Amino acid sequence: WIPSNIWVGAGEMTERQVTFELAPVYKKINVGLRQARAVSIHPEGGSGHESPFVTIEYTDPARVGQSDEIEYDYLVNATGPKLNFDATPGLGPEKGYTMSVCTPSHALEANGQLQKCVQEMKAGARKTFVIGTGHGMCTCQGAAFEYIYNVDHVLREAGVRHLARVVWISNEYELGDFGMGGVHITRGGYLTNGKVFAESLMVERGLEWITRAAVTKVEPGKIHYEQLDGSVHELEFD
Ligand SMILES: Cc1cc2nc3c(=O)[nH]c(=O)nc-3n(C[C@H](O)[C@H](O)[C@H](O)COP(=O)(O)OP(=O)(O)OC[C@H]3O[C@@H](n4cnc5c(N)ncnc54)[C@H](O)[C@@H]3O)c2cc1C
Repeated sequence: WIPSNIWVGAGEMTERQVTFELAPVYKKINVGLRQARAVSIHPEGGSGHESPFVTIEYTDPARVGQSDEIEYDYLVNATGPKLNFDATPGLGPEKGYTMSVCTPSHALEANGQLQKCVQEMKAGARKTFVIGTGHGMCTCQGAAFEYIYNVDHVLREAGVRHLARVVWISNEYELGDFGMGGVHITRGGYLTNGKVFAESLMVERGLEWITRAAVTKVEPGKIHYEQLDGSVHELEFD
């Protein structure tokens, strides 16, 4: 369950708690599940098929190496977003210098680093945490926005928040845009726009924010970013 990775990344939930077996779910509703990778779509049929079909390669451990062709009348292609860390040099946990909470394994690694920082802070170290989006064309800020509050909470619970600088960086025009031109939130009898709502939350918690920013490169301990007005900046992080 992808949205819950923000809890895994803060050590509040385990990988086991955010994942579940799909096969029993599909069995219950009488859907034939093939645990496989779709590799090609043939909307006009061909090679022995009059109907359209999809070619699949099994990832099911019991059938790895086997492929199949499945005919369809109607196809839903719902393969989701592709994590594109390569778009920003130095971004991402595999080839770069930043953490991610986009998958359970990324989130586990992020929590490992967070807990390591907490331990070092308990010994008196100061740390800068920068959380946000890693490219100027990102369209989803929600997960990072939730995660920064989880990190703030973890640091407070550990009694080390006073040793942390916590910074939000994103390509939003205004804080609270969330990639969809902002929101209006009803809270306490007031209708508040996303900018005021988000800025209030950050001010209350001592979080800093940088918006209108496209991260262009990450080096160990240093983020390079350009803002909409054309100015370029660097930001150091732990
Ligand atoms: C940390 C985090 C928190 C989020 N929180 C929220 C939230 O609170 N609210 C919200 O609305 N959204 C949230 N989102 C966004 C939301 O999770 C995604 O928009 C949503 O999961 C997209 O659903 P999907 O079915 O299109 O794709 P996915 O959930 O990515 O599913 C696509 C599936 O297709 C499979 N697949 C890919 N290629 C192939 C192939 N060739 N053959 C077969 N299968 C393939 C993948 O393995 C995957 O299982 C969050 C995202 C993240 C990363």
